[in-house]
Amino acid sequence: MNTKGILIVVSGFSGSGKGTLMKELLSRYPDTYALSISATTRSPRAGEEHGREYFFISKDEFEKMIAKDQLIEYARYVENYYGTPREYVEKKLSEGKDVILEIEIQGALKVKKAFPDTLLLFVTPPNAAELRDRLVGRGTETMDVIKSRLDRACEEAEGMDSYDYLIVNDELEACVQKMHEIIQGEHQRSFRNKDFMKEIKEDLERLKGEE
Ligand code: 5GP
Repeated sequence: MNTKGILIVVSGFSGSGKGTLMKELLSRYPDTYALSISATTRSPRAGEEHGREYFFISKDEFEKMIAKDQLIEYARYVENYYGTPREYVEKKLSEGKDVILEIEIQGALKVKKAFPDTLLLFVTPPNAAELRDRLVGRGTETMDVIKSRLDRACEEAEGMDSYDYLIVNDELEACVQKMHEIIQGEHQRSFRNKDFMKEIKEDLERLKGEE
């Protein structure tokens, strides 16, 4: 069966809890998944480290990466640039890992266009009020930023139906398991197993000829 890694995009409203979900998935299945680390021009939040949450770089450095085609995709999100470095993603996919990009919708659609086999997952809290409460409760953003993230969430809600699966993040453990099962189920899709099907058809023809 399919041994190549699957490229997976995980999007979700800011405050949907997708970051925690990803960390948990990665720590439970470290040999199955690789999480791409994006480059961004935004400043680190308290507790964030260069090379762990993001590569925090200047606008100049970001523009150089664009010019050298070192990003699979990039987008502008609330006044900053965010982009996916190409090298890591290609290396991990070829090693057979399922590679996760945690990116917003504009980037997700660009990736899907460039790589049509990409699996698109959208994480949402059970309802809108919970989303606002999580953003306020995080305590890391100013009210202005929270407002622009809620505005942005309204825009992103319009794009939810471009995704393959919705993942409602009500309970962390259950949600991690659900996500893992969805992704692993994808490996069985016929379009991801063209070589396997070709081989089985050829073998059957051969066996038929031998009878
Ligand atoms: P935050 O500033 O909260 O870390 O991220 C803001 C948004 O940017 C999130 O929706 C996040 O998923 C998205 N994002 C992070 N990295 C990338 C990237 O490489 N490309 C794109 N298009 N979006 C990204």
